[in-house]
Amino acid sequence: MTNQEIKTLGEKYVMNTYGRYPVALVRGEGTLVWDADGKEYLDFLGGIAVNALGHCAPEVTGALKEQADTLIHCSNLYWIEPQVQLARLLCENSVFDKVFFCNSGAEANEGAIKLARKYSELKYGPGRHTVLTMDNSFHGRTLATLTATGQPKFHKHFHPLPEGFSYAPFNDTAAFEEALTEDVCAVLLEPVQGEGGVFAADADFLSRVQELCRKKDILLILDEVQTGMGRTGHLFGYEAYGLTPDLMTLAKGLGGGVPIGAFLATEAVARAFSPGDHGSTFGGNPLNTRVGQAVLETMTAPGFLEGVREASSYFRRGLNILKEKYSFIREIRGLGLMVGLDLTFPGAELTRQGFEEGLLFNCTNNTTLRFLPPLTISREEMDRALAILDSLFSKACPEEQEGK
Ligand code: PLP
Repeated sequence: MTNQEIKTLGEKYVMNTYGRYPVALVRGEGTLVWDADGKEYLDFLGGIAVNALGHCAPEVTGALKEQADTLIHCSNLYWIEPQVQLARLLCENSVFDKVFFCNSGAEANEGAIKLARKYSELKYGPGRHTVLTMDNSFHGRTLATLTATGQPKFHKHFHPLPEGFSYAPFNDTAAFEEALTEDVCAVLLEPVQGEGGVFAADADFLSRVQELCRKKDILLILDEVQTGMGRTGHLFGYEAYGLTPDLMTLAKGLGGGVPIGAFLATEAVARAFSPGDHGSTFGGNPLNTRVGQAVLETMTAPGFLEGVREASSYFRRGLNILKEKYSFIREIRGLGLMVGLDLTFPGAELTRQGFEEGLLFNCTNNTTLRFLPPLTISREEMDRALAILDSLFSKACPEEQEGK
């Protein structure tokens, strides 16, 4: 089918919830993808931080094929070997002791919120159930996680929202202290706000957050759905800040393209759950956990994360050269290969032009171009992307795009 044929069929049968480009991506290899009409793109969006090892990485496809021929699904009423192996690997490579597997980032956050509330209720009785989150955050689209999301635009039309959430400004220690009221059982935050515009937390802020949480036995839940799995140049974002959170949520990169989510907790917290408290039919299924195992084994191999940090420095150096050249580039933000380039004008048109020129990235927070390339990106691919951006910026006319 052609791009146009797929688009026409999609408009007829698929719900209208995304603003989409008028193409279908049908094949990928590494950093490259091709649309249905054969046009090639450099993918610097990576399925929004999902294709951490690039498209159709041999580690991912190999594990998938092998597991597909062995056992695709069985119920969590039985032990699942790849699930157990992935849980072991995650715990051995983190500060956590126990894992629950689910299917997406939103589900991981839902589960972490449930666990935090039960932990608090068992210890302190009912009423201490509020989850404090940050302004401008993003935690998912289910009713609880969109309520946790500190951006009113996502709440509109979906009232009544679940109770038990409060908000504080990001990176504001004094306001955070004030927001830690007696009813708060957990703080949920992203070490680097992704959808909100690629804003990294200040190290001082996070260390004070952790200190205050510890003092009051408020659980610190890090949403590492986007920052986790090597994205920041560390296996998990909390390592970059020297934190020891009580819970962490993962999804996106963990499956290298296969849907999977997880939340991890320390033993003391995980103990609050007992059989019947939480579950998921597909969660921890042999197919996706076998792939997760392959992804994690690849990322923990010697030199992998160092490679991510080197690639990040190289790409940022190139972007900073562009920043020197174009005064409308306000800031280069983020951590590792989670990169935001903030403009003095809305970025939608440049994002569209990038797509036309065969470079995929997106725009968040109205003015921030966001790049989430595969962690395996090469220098040559980064050079190509930087050349395309240079050419786009050289033709950009900020005055014209003001107010768009
Ligand atoms: N949390 C963060 C930080 C995210 O970036 C996202 C998705 O972008 C989610 C949660 C929701 O994940 P999912 O779309 O897999 O439910």
